[in-house]
Amino acid sequence: MSAKTLEPSTDITPAAVEVHDVHKWYGANRVLDGVDLTVRPGEVTVILGPSGSGKSTLLRVINHLEKPEIGYVSVNGELIGVKRRGERSEVGVPPAEGRGRLKELSERAILAQRSRIGFVFQNFNLFPHLTVLDNVAAAPVATGRLAKPEALELARELLDRVGLGEKTGAYPRQLSGGQQQRVAIARALALRPGVILFDEPTSALDPELVGEVLAVIKDLATSGTTLVIVTHEIGFAREVADRVVFIDAGKIVEQGPPHEVLDKPQHERTRDFLSKVL
Ligand code: ADP
Ligand code: MG
Repeated sequence: MSAKTLEPSTDITPAAVEVHDVHKWYGANRVLDGVDLTVRPGEVTVILGPSGSGKSTLLRVINHLEKPEIGYVSVNGELIGVKRRGERSEVGVPPAEGRGRLKELSERAILAQRSRIGFVFQNFNLFPHLTVLDNVAAAPVATGRLAKPEALELARELLDRVGLGEKTGAYPRQLSGGQQQRVAIARALALRPGVILFDEPTSALDPELVGEVLAVIKDLATSGTTLVIVTHEIGFAREVADRVVFIDAGKIVEQGPPHEVLDKPQHERTRDFLSKVL
């Protein structure tokens, strides 16, 4: 655990996302090795790092699709999961609450909290048997947030916002990859999430379709949505990120504003990575 995260914060607004001393193993393979990350509301964080460095695992831990062996994650000041090791059992007292001990959340609480986090995957993951409109309207109805007519109205608004107002009746297979990914972004927005996580949202796209998806993400970024984006699009990172985080072998090697991390990297591993992707 790094010392800086133990200092009392003067900012009383809860972090949008706080990852605290997270360690994650798959068998003997240590995939996250003491990751600390704080994302403030409205902030855009871009995560860079080589293949296999733990980027997807970090997003999956934030979304509670994976449990860390040590450490915890909170979203909007609410703890969303922890599993303690005996000798580290005192570690997980969230500074925001400052009292009580962490406990395992019920499956129901986890689902409720996950529904406040948007997740956009590399391969879109749309429901193939539902129209675009129903793909976007499904979650607010399934979670009981909205009645069907309101959910459909919201879905139309969101599809307009991502430039697909004309495609509401189409099925995913009838759309290009870029269009499908824009539907996936509208679907994430439909739950009015406190934060949206993107895992390489443009890696599966033909090059000519990358721009339309990045333009939609940029629109969210400039309108104050809290975003955490794993991407290899360095130019995009430079343009939209408030902070760039470079991760290698399960550790954050360095982080800072894009002009520092991208233009003046302090670590050899960051320089080496950037020289390969730029
Ligand atoms: P990245 O997204 O940076 O490419 P990942 O987080 O997907 O990296 O993976 C980090 C490491 O964890 C890799 O060595 C990968 O093989 C391993 N890994 C990821 N998911 C699993 C899993 N479900 N079971 C076992 N090993 C996994
Ligand atoms: Mg990945």
